[in-house]
Amino acid sequence: MRVVIAGGSMAGLFAAALLRKAGHDVHVYERSHAGLEGRGAGLVAQQEVFDLLHEIGRDEVAQLGVVAKERITLASDGTIAAAGGPPQMQISWDHLYVATRMQIPDEAYHLGRGAIGAGQDAAGAWLELDHGERIRADLVIGADGIGSAVRRSMMPDAPGPRYTGYVAWRALVPERLLPVSAADVLSDRFAFFHLPGGQALGYTVTGANGELTPGQRRYNAVWYRTTPDLAATLTDRDGRVHPYSLPPGAVRADAVQEVIASARAVLPRPFATVFAAESQPFVQAIFDMEIARMVEGRLALIGDAAFVARPHTAMGVAKAAGDAMALARAVDLGWTPEARRAFEAVRLRTGHAIVDYGRRLGASLG
Ligand SMILES: Cc1cc2nc3c(=O)[nH]c(=O)nc-3n(C[C@H](O)[C@H](O)[C@H](O)COP(=O)(O)OP(=O)(O)OC[C@H]3O[C@@H](n4cnc5c(N)ncnc54)[C@H](O)[C@@H]3O)c2cc1C
Repeated sequence: MRVVIAGGSMAGLFAAALLRKAGHDVHVYERSHAGLEGRGAGLVAQQEVFDLLHEIGRDEVAQLGVVAKERITLASDGTIAAAGGPPQMQISWDHLYVATRMQIPDEAYHLGRGAIGAGQDAAGAWLELDHGERIRADLVIGADGIGSAVRRSMMPDAPGPRYTGYVAWRALVPERLLPVSAADVLSDRFAFFHLPGGQALGYTVTGANGELTPGQRRYNAVWYRTTPDLAATLTDRDGRVHPYSLPPGAVRADAVQEVIASARAVLPRPFATVFAAESQPFVQAIFDMEIARMVEGRLALIGDAAFVARPHTAMGVAKAAGDAMALARAVDLGWTPEARRAFEAVRLRTGHAIVDYGRRLGASLG
């Protein structure tokens, strides 16, 4: 089968790797020009990710990560108020990305090619690219994330993502830049701090190239903040308003200063020092999104193009892996109406359940 995929991050790569392994002719069209290497941090892998890595013969990727030996809750004076819980490993997002990206030959992974729509007729389906090109295929998969162009073509009247009222600020700093006093409290632990209308958390992740040696790793801190004026927060250095997030380097200097000053004012000192050490924090608005259909004939949606769950679930990558495996099974069965219905029934149920779980976890924030 000839398969065309919009979006070359986790969901798109997972589907591409599985479908190529099954012998299909697969091409991925990714909007980003530079590729995604070095842009991720860590993720808690769940069973679906282990299963997917096993299916593509890359089990070892799940062994590379940083283990948080315990969970701690900080008091506002920066001391440890509570500690405990089982150890938890964060695997490297970049390592997972590179491992799955390596399953796709360069000539089948097209960078800088954004989709603007998709469609189908009696002869097959197509993906429409921003250069005006139309790529025909037997199956078009929308793995193009929260703003999915494929989803908009499939269901133009669907309500789309709903802003929850809060954003996540992220600082990802080399471990060696942390003052000893902060590193002593935070390193190798999963740390939390709760405050009215917000929550901060952090954990140690691998270095940008998968380094595991203490001193060469990075510390990832996330601060969820209630933010009524989303447009102002997502206005970049050039005055452009982004719909969902601002990448590192795009946040205005005054906003960086505000985050650092507010962190100093309200977060425990160890977290405030992480934000002070980050010259290029980035911000992602938190959305809920659910859809009623994932399939329409020769068009299908997977990953965040279909359902967006709040990051507290830590299930975004597992959901993408589960979608990709279920879709690959349906393709294996010939993408018949029964196979499509079975894929959709299972993954719609899972998608709704994960979004609902995220809503409950984030209820105190927005
Ligand atoms: C750079 C990056 C770093 C991340 N780091 C982490 C992390 O450290 N920990 C974690 O838990 N999660 C991380 N995530 C999120 C996590 O990977 C996703 O929530 C989850 O895996 C769902 O993935 P997805 O592929 O469905 O959607 P997304 O990750 O949103 O990927 C969608 C992809 O589609 C591309 N795209 C968007 N629009 C178009 C278009 N019109 N045409 C073609 N391509 C398009 C985007 O550039 C992107 O590559 C990261 C995501 C990205 C993109």
